[in-house]
Amino acid sequence: MGGMGGGASGFGGFGGFGDIFDSIFQGFGGGASVQRDTTGEDIQLNMRLSFMDAAKGCNKEISYSRNEPCPACHGTGAKNGTAFNTCKKCGGKGQIRFTQDTMFGRTVRVGACPDCGGRGKIITDKCPDCKGKGFLRRDTKVTLNIPAGADTNSYMRKRGFGQASAEGGEAGDLVVVFQVEPHKIFQRRNMDLYVDLPIPFQTAALGGTVKVPDLDNAFEYTIPEGTQNGTTFMVRGKGIKSRQGTGNLYLRVFVEVPTKLSRDQKRKLQDAGDALEMKQFDKAKKYSDNLSALYGTEAYKK
Ligand SMILES: [Zn+2]
Ligand SMILES: [Zn+2]
Repeated sequence: MGGMGGGASGFGGFGGFGDIFDSIFQGFGGGASVQRDTTGEDIQLNMRLSFMDAAKGCNKEISYSRNEPCPACHGTGAKNGTAFNTCKKCGGKGQIRFTQDTMFGRTVRVGACPDCGGRGKIITDKCPDCKGKGFLRRDTKVTLNIPAGADTNSYMRKRGFGQASAEGGEAGDLVVVFQVEPHKIFQRRNMDLYVDLPIPFQTAALGGTVKVPDLDNAFEYTIPEGTQNGTTFMVRGKGIKSRQGTGNLYLRVFVEVPTKLSRDQKRKLQDAGDALEMKQFDKAKKYSDNLSALYGTEAYKK
């Protein structure tokens, strides 16, 4: 893991990340997680991230309300967590087989035990804190250590921070889905960054330097002479540094032509233009030759 650049986000490495969260997942698509019957429901929250927070990683605290497993009874609903008997009807399994005779024969169905409601336990003395429910409605605060590279519709799952189970099972998960805000300079595709870079036409022709940004700073980039409009320059390793890898920075050049020229500027530009030869314009030369072959006329006045 090649460090976090400037480390301005205060993200303390990835060490503690994996044991709280499974991972950051790409593409939240509503695919329901597979849960056992008794597991509590997942809670889904949406979170907006600034472009920079998503690209560099950040810590975010979120508050939300959930059914939290009751600490006094450890989620059992029984006083001290012990005042219960194993359900006789289901033998503690919480599930029971129902058989039914129909005109097509005997069918067997498995469902929650009616005596214990699927818990497998019969509470003899209810927990006074939660009144036998096994959970309490509480405000929960969670700090998310969001690693660099979160993208729109990627999500994080925090185990056990969803709804408490109503049937004595484990709590569900908290699922936080990210929406990344756009940026005025950067665009991104996965871990690659893109910058649309306007260049004055004389810089494109003569070459020169221009300041360009990465995620931490601006640095000087040398534009070679004769750079054409639409050229893309790649700066390796200057993209997002994530666990999935490090992206590149792509500079997409747009050659800009000046407007509102003064009379004097026009005269000088005309003189400079007159000093150039047609063969120095590769594409224009080809076009003119093709037009000449087609209709016997040249494209540009000289
Ligand atoms: Zn039962
Ligand atoms: Zn309780």
